[in-house]
Amino acid sequence: MKKIVFTAPRSAEIRECEIPSYGANEVLLQNERIGVCGTDIQVFMGRNRYMQFPVTPFHEGVARVVKTGKDVKNVKAGERVTIRPILSCGHCYSCERGHENACENFNCLGVQSDGLGAEYFVIDKHYVYPISKKCPLDQAVLIEPFAVGVHAAVRGKVCGRRVLVVGAGTIGNFTAQACGLLGAKQVCICDLSEDKVKMAERSGISICLNSHSRTLTDVAKEAFGTFPDVIIDCVGAKAVLPQILELAGKTTDIVIVGNYSEPVLIDAAKIQRNELNVYGNITYTEEDFRKAVELVMDQKVYMDGFISAKFQFDQAQEMMDFAAENRGINMKVVMDYGVSGCGKEG
Ligand SMILES: [Zn+2]
Ligand SMILES: [Zn+2]
Repeated sequence: MKKIVFTAPRSAEIRECEIPSYGANEVLLQNERIGVCGTDIQVFMGRNRYMQFPVTPFHEGVARVVKTGKDVKNVKAGERVTIRPILSCGHCYSCERGHENACENFNCLGVQSDGLGAEYFVIDKHYVYPISKKCPLDQAVLIEPFAVGVHAAVRGKVCGRRVLVVGAGTIGNFTAQACGLLGAKQVCICDLSEDKVKMAERSGISICLNSHSRTLTDVAKEAFGTFPDVIIDCVGAKAVLPQILELAGKTTDIVIVGNYSEPVLIDAAKIQRNELNVYGNITYTEEDFRKAVELVMDQKVYMDGFISAKFQFDQAQEMMDFAAENRGINMKVVMDYGVSGCGKEG
């Protein structure tokens, strides 16, 4: 079989290797489609702190089950599945308390270990979830990023509250949709890019504002007339967090979803004096992931138009160059492995 290997910054090779063998509790998957996210671009550029070259990339995927080990009961050969790509150890302090997403031995496919950028892949049965035949591949491949939004909404305890989501890329958009689906009273999303604001409008998010050349405080005032109960940061840029702290009212909950790649100077007194609750957010728990699968299968999530470009397996280098260069513009770049059973899909 073939696999993609990132060998050095900005270098993606395709190599021949053996199809991996599987144990009693494992499944052999044939990958069908993967999505590229910011993390993959970081890995491609050699800028992710937790990776080493060479690595086989990608963690957002849809696959067909080829074979199952003798103790696998949750999926059958031939079924299509989505993959929960965050492997947890099951026995550390976090895992034992149900925070497997914050596992001390955190292992994301395609970062800390080899990922889905291969024709075949073997994984433990606990990480695969059957999905309906009716679900197009281009939607199924978005379940993983949507699960991040579900976790953020859970962290923000959004039910019945006014939520401002800062940043309307794929994760921001999905976070805002998840907030609505989990019962938020009002959801406002903002972005500097008019394209992303328009996308948010099409997605049915109730208040979508352009934050270009205005402060988040102005944005929130227009949306709610006051400060929000919950602010979810889906940007992760230096200029954003100080503005969020400026906007926050007393006791506001702040959830940081965006990946900060450098330290940020903040006024900690704002957190102390206002009794702000600042939460981190890393991927999702197994429960969040199941919820995400369920909401997507029930067609509750708007997912049209998120795929901005599609590449074939042998175009790995081209795809990653494209994704890296078009970071600000793209919603989601995907790779089609060209193996779907049915040609008319997604
Ligand atoms: Zn991702
Ligand atoms: Zn653990």
